[in-house]
Amino acid sequence: MTTVNCPTCEKAVIWSPESPYRPFCSKRCQLIDLGEWADEKKVIAGNEDDVMSSDSTIN
Ligand SMILES: [Zn+2]
Repeated sequence: MTTVNCPTCEKAVIWSPESPYRPFCSKRCQLIDLGEWADEKKVIAGNEDDVMSSDSTIN
């Protein structure tokens, strides 16, 4: 069995299809390494204004 160490937290990760984020141990560690960890906030802050304006034109 092949194992690698997660580049972010050094945890042992089994190199197999069961570890979809290899060589990282988790999606969290993958995002940290890619520098996208903080970008999740931007995705949540979508444009809700469009939804509300289109709703008021019905009828
Ligand atoms: Zn990790």
